[in-house]
Amino acid sequence: MKYCARCGSEYQDSVRECADCPGNPLLVSAEEMRARGLPLPHEMDKRVFVRAATAEDPFTAEAFVGVLQEANIPVLVRAGRSGVVDKLTTGNLLPWWEILVPEDLRARAVPLLEQERVQELATTDEAARAAEEEERETETPPSPPPAP
Ligand SMILES: [Zn+2]
Repeated sequence: MKYCARCGSEYQDSVRECADCPGNPLLVSAEEMRARGLPLPHEMDKRVFVRAATAEDPFTAEAFVGVLQEANIPVLVRAGRSGVVDKLTTGNLLPWWEILVPEDLRARAVPLLEQERVQELATTDEAARAAEEEERETETPPSPPPAP
């Protein structure tokens, strides 16, 4: 079996890339997953990964992964389609990604991600402000469930 170090999915040995993740990352061996501190699918019930944040675009997801890897926090990214939105049978991905970290490291991960989000907003300040205003006016988009 091979595994996606991004989302944690399991694949047949003949498969080379993850079909689910943006950029179709190359799959790795079980040993490599272990070396990165990531759980194999059948280990997920033992080692609980919980949501630390959500990203509304793949760039933010990438940035979050980078921050967490720098801090040596194992991270998985799940496209926000499964579970929550069973009713959607189109197979389309919703435009957000779930950032998952080990439960015992969540308290460390969340502030790092919040900091990263603030920094990102600061660098794209005007765009962010425009987007915010637009959001306020339209009151729309399909967004992740509000964080607790
Ligand atoms: Zn994947």
